[in-house]
Amino acid sequence: MDSTEQRIKIAIQKSGRLTDHSLDLLERCGLKFTQSKDQLFCYGENMPIDLLLVRDDDIPGLVSDDVCDLGIAGLNVINEKRLGLLSSGGCAQFRQVFALDFGHCRLAIAAPYDVAYENVASLQGSRIATSYVQTLRHYLEKNNVQADIEYFSGAVEIAPKLGKADFICDLVSTGNTLTANQLVEVETVLQSEAVVIQTSAPLAEHKQQLVNRILQRLDGVLQVRESKYIMLHAPRSALAEIADLLPGSEYPTVIPLDSCDDKVAVHAVCRENVFWETLENLKEAGASSLLVLPVEKMLA
Ligand code: ATP
Ligand code: ZN
Repeated sequence: MDSTEQRIKIAIQKSGRLTDHSLDLLERCGLKFTQSKDQLFCYGENMPIDLLLVRDDDIPGLVSDDVCDLGIAGLNVINEKRLGLLSSGGCAQFRQVFALDFGHCRLAIAAPYDVAYENVASLQGSRIATSYVQTLRHYLEKNNVQADIEYFSGAVEIAPKLGKADFICDLVSTGNTLTANQLVEVETVLQSEAVVIQTSAPLAEHKQQLVNRILQRLDGVLQVRESKYIMLHAPRSALAEIADLLPGSEYPTVIPLDSCDDKVAVHAVCRENVFWETLENLKEAGASSLLVLPVEKMLA
């Protein structure tokens, strides 16, 4: 078997909003890379896992066609590709395995300030400019609205000013671009964030094991992001109440304290952030010597 066939390929965005987050996430999984001169490929130094750096729109296709085993892209792009394949009689050969909690945005319909918009029925008979033709078509069908979809590959927000459309449907995060173009958001078509997709093609066993390992590490990295390790002393009598107050923790460890019968040490991983209010409530319930530490790695 050729050695390249034994390596895992992950497609990530070459240059854009998702690039730094994607690289950072993979590095936190313990992967080290060297980038090729043309910057289109990153060779995995310490594991047989390489990166392909491409336009985000190409990522679902590369994973569906089994050129890459995994990919990181926005749900907006993944959804558009899935619907596109379906409408041409095909089927997406990938599945979503994780939401990554970055790249948050929404695909939204926006109207010029001077348009009287009431509800989704106001879109009936209008022209809507978008790069997300499939997603918008699906949304309009679901809402029983007939409208003309005008394809724009970029700068969708200027379509109404050019007289090319009555509304636009585009990605929004802060809304600043809309405001700058005298547009107001009127409908949310899709809430999006970056996700990991995996090819549905069956992988050779050693490759599947490698994919499982990387997915397990990704899961660990995502879980610890908000997690904290909390240590405190508590009277035995207050243990039940204190355990209830620990946010998102399952099984606190209870350790006896030397020369102190009625007090114990409690250690727990909290899978949510621990705020000052929680510490104050714990103290009120009888806890003392409270210590909250960040968690760096976790393997369930
Ligand atoms: P390319 O096609 O060259 O890879 P792009 O211009 O399509 O780049 P970016 O603008 O970098 O892509 O956006 C990449 C992804 O980031 C989007 O598909 C979306 O999932 C997410 N995103 C988050 N916020 C926004 C936003 N305000 N506008 C556009 N995309 C956003
Ligand atoms: Zn793109």
